Formats: sequence, C-alpha cells, structure tokens
Amino acid sequence: MPETRRRFLEKMTGGLGVVASAPWLLGSARRAGAAEPPGRKLGVALVGLGTLAGGELAPALQQTRLCRLTGLVSGHPEKARQWAQQYGVPEKNIYSYETFDRIGDNRDIDIVYVVLPNSMHAEYTIRAAKAGKHVLCEKPMAVSVSECDEMISACRAAGRQLAIGYRLQFEPYNREMMRLAREKVFGGLKIIETSVGFRTGDPNQWRLKMALAGGGSLVDLGIYALQAARYIAGEEPISVTAQTGLTDAVKFREVEESIVFDLKFASGVVASCSSSYATVLANRFWAGAERGWFELAPGQYYQGIRGRTGGPQGVKEMQFAAINQFAAEMDDFADCILNGKPTRVPGEEGRQDVRIMTAIYEAAANGRAVAL
Ligand code: NAD
Repeated sequence: MPETRRRFLEKMTGGLGVVASAPWLLGSARRAGAAEPPGRKLGVALVGLGTLAGGELAPALQQTRLCRLTGLVSGHPEKARQWAQQYGVPEKNIYSYETFDRIGDNRDIDIVYVVLPNSMHAEYTIRAAKAGKHVLCEKPMAVSVSECDEMISACRAAGRQLAIGYRLQFEPYNREMMRLAREKVFGGLKIIETSVGFRTGDPNQWRLKMALAGGGSLVDLGIYALQAARYIAGEEPISVTAQTGLTDAVKFREVEESIVFDLKFASGVVASCSSSYATVLANRFWAGAERGWFELAPGQYYQGIRGRTGGPQGVKEMQFAAINQFAAEMDDFADCILNGKPTRVPGEEGRQDVRIMTAIYEAAANGRAVAL
C-alpha cells in the first residue's frame, strides 16, 4: 500500500490497526483518493424517490454530520432533475434503474440507500455491492431468507458494509427500553406486548401486492413489533405461534390485513405482538417486569415518541431530547464505514427478522407453533 494512503487510513482510524481487518475502509479510501481531507462527508445515493426518500431521507441528509446527498436513482427523469436542483445534486449523478450499474465509476457516491418496494431490495443491494458501494437497505431487508443470504454474500464478496434501516435502534426512548430491560431496573423481565397499526389508504398501492411487498402488515409494520420484542428481550425467540385477521377481503386479497403473533424466548420471557393495516395509529411497546413496567406509546413514530415507567412507586414520564432518527441512522453507518466498525444493524439482523417472519406466516397457515 502506498505510504500516502497508509497515512490517510491511519489518520481516519486513529492508527488502531483496523486497516487490515476492514476491507470496506480500504475500498472507501481507495475511491476517495489518498489526498481526500479527513473531514470529507460520505456521499449517499437514494434509490427510489418515493414517500420515505422525499419526506424523510433527503431532508435528513441536510442534517447529517458525516454524509450528504450526492446521487439520485429514479425511473422518472423529470422528478430526479427537480430533486437534483432542490438538493444541489449534480446532474451527472442522476441514474435510472437501467444505468444504475454505472454508479461504480462515480467517486461522489460511497453509500447506496435502497428505498424501493420490498421485493426490489435484494436486486439493488446486490447490484450496488457489485458496483463497489456500501449499502443501507430499508426494512424489511428482503422477501425471503435466501435473498438475505445473497445480499450478505454480495456485500461480503465486495468488501462493503451492509446495514438495514432500523432507525429505532438509534432512537433514545427505544434505547431506554433496552437499558431498563438489560439492567433489570424493575427486576427481571417477564412479558412483552408490542403492536403497530396503521390504516392503509390507496387499495392499488404496492404494499397490498404480494409480488412487490412479500407480505402484508407483518412485513411492513409487524416488523417493528418483532424488532422491539427482540431488542427489549435481548435474546432470540425459540418458537412462534400466529393468527391472521381479515375484515376486508376485497382490499386484502393478496396480503394479510392483521396478524397477532406470540414469541417464546429461551429464558421463559414471552411476547405478544400484533400488526394491522386496518387500525388507526395503534402503536405501543410495553414490557412487564417483577417490580414495574415500562412502555412507549407511541413507540415507533418519526417524531413524538413518549415513554413511561410505572410500579408501586407511581408513574413517571421518560424525558429525552428528540432526534432525527434517519440522520442518526445514516451518520452511524457513515461512522462505521469511516472508522472500520461493525454496524449494530447489519444484514444478519435483517435476515433474522425475515427468518422469524417466515416462521410466523408458517405458524399462521398451519395453526401450530413453529420452532426456530
Ligand atoms: P413509495 O411507494 O412511496 O416509494 C417507492 C419508490 O419506488 C417510488 O419512488 C417508486 O416510483 C419506486 N418504484 C420503482 N419501481 C417500482 C415498482 N415496480 N412499483 C412501485 N414503486 C416502484 O414507498 P415508501 O413508503 O417510500 O417505501 C419504500 C421502502 O421504504 C419500503 O421498503 C418500506 O418498507 C420502507 N420504509 C421504511 C420506513 C422506515 O421508517 N424505516 C418508512 C416507510 C417506508
């Protein structure tokens, strides 16, 4: 390795010897060039300029410390040009789905953020990795475990990091739920209840089409209830049971409207979880322990999360400063890439949810517990 590049890498890593063990760091620096100033922000390209990208991610990228919006991938050239003007993205950094693979030649782009319908996550993650980019992929990671495996392998083969967009893992109230459970502040944890519901509008949207969504309310909303149960419990479920609910057979022809599922953990802790596409804004993560309880309601919103703890000593409101969850998620990923650290939301974390959700569907279909 040329001396200038080694010095640059040592500066970036504080000489911690991660150079040899972090191929993604080496690749990033190679693309950035040895003369790149240490304060450089990593460039992010958004793939799929829909509701999340436009409403949350592009604005959040104006608040990030370690990354900035430098690329746009869209099937609508006019929309992409408007975004480029609004966010100061050079026109040369606009790609269509057909020209996407050329992103490999673009030094302005370090991270590809996949914000497409669920069934497209695997393809674009793999193509981005092959183009030499780190990948942040929205939840659910993919529509099957085998797709998750291919995504993990592609990023590993390319020496690039892969993270899943689990914004709540960076959110202070949700982190407090993890701490209260882990430190047994109210004694040992016994039971968890998590539910996320939302009333879907447009009956023609991709979320209601199996081929694009890969499932119904579970893969879109129930995944938050599942994540919360897993990160509050701090362990993995060993079996699941489940039932689906349906009150509108026309709208929910292809995917499930509502689902309730129970998780059993090896420690004896149990979780009762649910999701629905037909209830207005149901949103609660609750944990019951020996000497008290702790809950977030709402627990999953972009803003306005509130939490309480309770027990014989009374009920107390949690107090944390609001953050931009998407900016925190993207900055953490950039920090991991720049400093050769593993992300706390890797592909393996996304794969585990897809694996458990597959078992939940099997349990609902067969009416029996499924071991994990
Ligand atoms: P959306 O429908 O608003 O946007 C999807 C984008 O994909 C659009 O720009 C659309 O043009 C494009 N697209 C390309 N090919 C398409 C096709 N064949 N069919 C439909 N759209 C196509 O969706 P969204 O709400 O932005 O969700 C995108 C992803 O982000 C999903 O995976 C979703 O689960 C995830 N998401 C995550 C969060 C979160 O809080 N982390 C919130 C919302 C959505």
